[in-house]
This record gives sequence, C-alpha cells and structure tokens, in this order.
Amino acid sequence: MTKPVRVRFAPSPTGPLHIGGVRTALFNYLFAKKHGGTFVLRIEDTDQNRYVEGAEEYIISSLNWCGMPFDEGPGKEGSFGPYRQSERKSLYQKYAGILLEKGHAYYAFDTPEELNALRKTYEEKGDTFIYNWHNRNELQNSLSLSQDEVNARIERGDHYVIRFKSPQDEKVRFTDLVRGSMEIDSNVLDDKILFKSDGMPTYHLANIVDDHLMEITHVIRGEEWLPSLALHVLLYRAFGWDSPEFAHLPLILKPAGKGKLSKRDGDKLGFPVFPLEWKDPASQEISKGYREEGYFPEAVVNFLALLGWNPGTDQEIFSMEALINAFDIARVNKSGARFDPDKIKWFNQHYLQESDNGVVAELFGKELEKHGVEPDADYDQKVVGLLKERAVFANDLWDLGSYFYQAPEAYDAKASKKSWKENTKEYILKVAEVLRNTEDFSSENTEKVVKAWIAENELGFGQVMPPLRLSLVGAMKGPHVFDIVELLGKDETLARMKKICDVLG
Ligand code: GLU
Repeated sequence: MTKPVRVRFAPSPTGPLHIGGVRTALFNYLFAKKHGGTFVLRIEDTDQNRYVEGAEEYIISSLNWCGMPFDEGPGKEGSFGPYRQSERKSLYQKYAGILLEKGHAYYAFDTPEELNALRKTYEEKGDTFIYNWHNRNELQNSLSLSQDEVNARIERGDHYVIRFKSPQDEKVRFTDLVRGSMEIDSNVLDDKILFKSDGMPTYHLANIVDDHLMEITHVIRGEEWLPSLALHVLLYRAFGWDSPEFAHLPLILKPAGKGKLSKRDGDKLGFPVFPLEWKDPASQEISKGYREEGYFPEAVVNFLALLGWNPGTDQEIFSMEALINAFDIARVNKSGARFDPDKIKWFNQHYLQESDNGVVAELFGKELEKHGVEPDADYDQKVVGLLKERAVFANDLWDLGSYFYQAPEAYDAKASKKSWKENTKEYILKVAEVLRNTEDFSSENTEKVVKAWIAENELGFGQVMPPLRLSLVGAMKGPHVFDIVELLGKDETLARMKKICDVLG
C-alpha cells in the first residue's frame, strides 16, 4: 500500500516570504490536494540569529490570503507536532547522538579562527579548503584525537560541533522528480556541520529528522537546495531511513531573463516581490505587497502556478480548483521561469472582469474614501459596470472615472480646441433644453432624443457629441456618453452642460 501523501512547506522566519517561496508553497499545496494528501507548515527557526519578529505570522497570513491554508502546523496541531523547530530542540540532539554512535558523525573542535586561517592558507595556494576525508585526520576531531582527549574537551566545555562523516570515493545516486537521475562524487562533499555547541542543529540535520518524523513523502522545494540533496540522501542512508521523493523547482528569473529574481528588481521596476506588505521591524522600511497593490489572490496564484509548470495545453486561466485537477509534478520544467510583471497584471485584469461588480465596488470604496467621496454601493456598482473593462485594478477606476464623482474642474485643452467652435455653446444650451424636457433619462432614451434633435437641425454628430462628452468628463475619454448621462442624472448633466458654456464661452 502506498503511504498517504504528506508534503511540507518549511520556511525560515527570517523576513517576509518572497514570491518564490509562495510558489514553492503553492506547488506543495497543489500536490497535496491533488493526491488527497496533507499540507504541513513547518517553521525552520533553528538559526536564532536570523529570526525576525512577525515573520511567522506573515507567512501564515500569506498562505491564507492565497487560499492555501495548511492542514497541520503551528496553531493547527496534528499528530506530528510541534511544528516549530525551536520547540523540537531535544529531538535533534538525540538524533545527532545516533549518528555519532553509528560512526556517521564526529565531534570537531576546530575553532572558527583556526578554520579561517586554514581557509586562507589554502586560498594562497589557489586551493579551496574542504573539511572532509582528505584532511579530517589532520584536524582536531574525534577521529583524530584520543577518546580521553575528546571526553576531556567536551567536559571542559570547549567549543565543538558535530560533523557528518561523508564517504570517500563513492558515487551518490539519486533521482529528482523534476531533474531525473543524478550522480555526485562523494569526494567533493564536505563534512557538513549537523549540530552546534549552542545545542542547536543546523538546517540539514533538523530538516532530515523532521521530514522523517513527520512522515513527509515528497520534498518539493526551490532549486537552491539541490546542492544539499546528496548530503540529505546520505543522511537518510546513515540513519537507515527511506528517503522521501524529491522535486526541486526551477528558479524564478528576473524580468530581463538572466539571474534570480530579487527584491531589487521589484524596486527598480516598481512591482512587489512579496505577497503582502511588510514593515521591517528593525529599519521600519516598508516593502510593497501584491495584496495592498490591489491584486486579487486568484491572479497571483494563477500567475505563480505557471511559473515553472505548464498544463501541457494553451489554457492559462486556472482557478485553484482547476489547478488542483490539472497539476502534475512531471510537468514542472527544469529551466528557470522568467518573472513577467506585465503578465501578472494581465491575470489581475482578467480576475477583475470576472469579479462581481459589488466586490469590485467595495474595493473601489477604499479609494473613493481617500478622495473624500462617501461610497454609495448602488451608484458605485454602476460606475464599476461601465468602467471595469478598462481597469487592471479596482483603484484604476478613480483615474478612469473620477468625473462620476466630481464635475470637471478644467477641460482638456487639446480637446477643447478641437471640439469647441463658434456655435458650440448655442448647440449645447439647446440640447440641454431638450434634455430638461425629457422625462425618461435612460441612456437609450436620451440618446434617441439628442440624436433626433441633431438630425432635425441638420447638424453633424461631431458638432454636438464631443462637446457634450467634454462637458461631462472634461476630456475625450470614458464609456458611451449617454451611459454617463444616465448615471449622472438630469440635474448634474444639465449643470455640467451649463458650466462648460460659462467656462469656454
Ligand atoms: N528552511 C528552508 C528554507 O528556508 C527549507 C528548505 C527545504 O524545503 O528543505 O527554504
């Protein structure tokens, strides 16, 4: 019987979650849901120096905002908790001990200063210092020193670490679900530190122990962890445990296509690289987030899903449910995926069009308040209905249609020059008169009435329609002019028509 699928997202709370981390979480979530499995959140906070206040809450809020809540994790205890590594400390010591006992790990007493000096000497010779089989017997560790000496040093409280004893002259073979079979020469591996004298494990030990104890079946993570894979495979073997399956997701590349996407790219080109806004607790610096910039989580998720994965068809629009159905880890690409900030806008535009006018109006309401306009659900929804096809974000509606809330203060100079001629005032005042006598102020009826008047007076549309639009909007933009007339209503329409005649004369 195959084991039930359990995957984990294992971020370190060192700051806001990068958009690449969100993609990793998403692929884990999709894989879990696709296979009826469990999505675990594990907080890898063993490095206390890098711990940042608020980062864990940020990670959890981000997952929730994206619509991919975890099944087990901090605050949602399952049978495999605790889910914060800092709360599992005692476990790691025990497992480091097991490796020592089995001869797969050893104590090393070399101080950071000594190692730095060695590194320098190697560099001067044009070599790179690697702590492993080729020199470990000449260094200060439990393989080179006598047992008594080792015991004495530990008792004395000397600085020590526990290192993994990586094998010599071996081909380490493993398979990655994205990259296929790989082989690494063990001679190039260094004896990684697994445990430090502060009583804390390093990432490698804690990660392997937890993945095993939490019965993780598939490790899906970013490509930057691929160089650790040989060590991880060796660690599973050293413990005598079956290793999970691995899938390393391709890098997310800069918009220009070369190199890994960084926060600086976002700052330079003006797009967020974080899902939610983040205020750095130390510097108080604020980093933009997709949520606050007006993106729909559906757009962010849809966009991220296609960064490094493809459905094998031309389909681009996927709801979360559709993604779960379509997701197949075998269709994750090996090569890096270029981050295209215009494409995510395209998705947002799509989801804005799909959204209920009421939902968009509510989002727009916040922008209206900023401009001192009291939101009015009914009216705002109609504005949304007229304008949303031109918008990428709900906030765009203000630039697109502030005239629905405020009479124009000025008239576009170029448009005025082009459309306001000698007789225009006379026509506009007459049309205003016709409209004053019109009961039914629907778009259809006002259009009929005004067009009939134009025909009767043997005028061209160009003599009336552009100045009419200019009077209502202040510029040559906007939806169908009679839709604007209907929404503004009789009083406001007439007032604006009169005002333009006063101003442009
Ligand atoms: N804590 C690691 C990170 O921050 C986890 C890597 C992994 O998934 O193994 O990404």
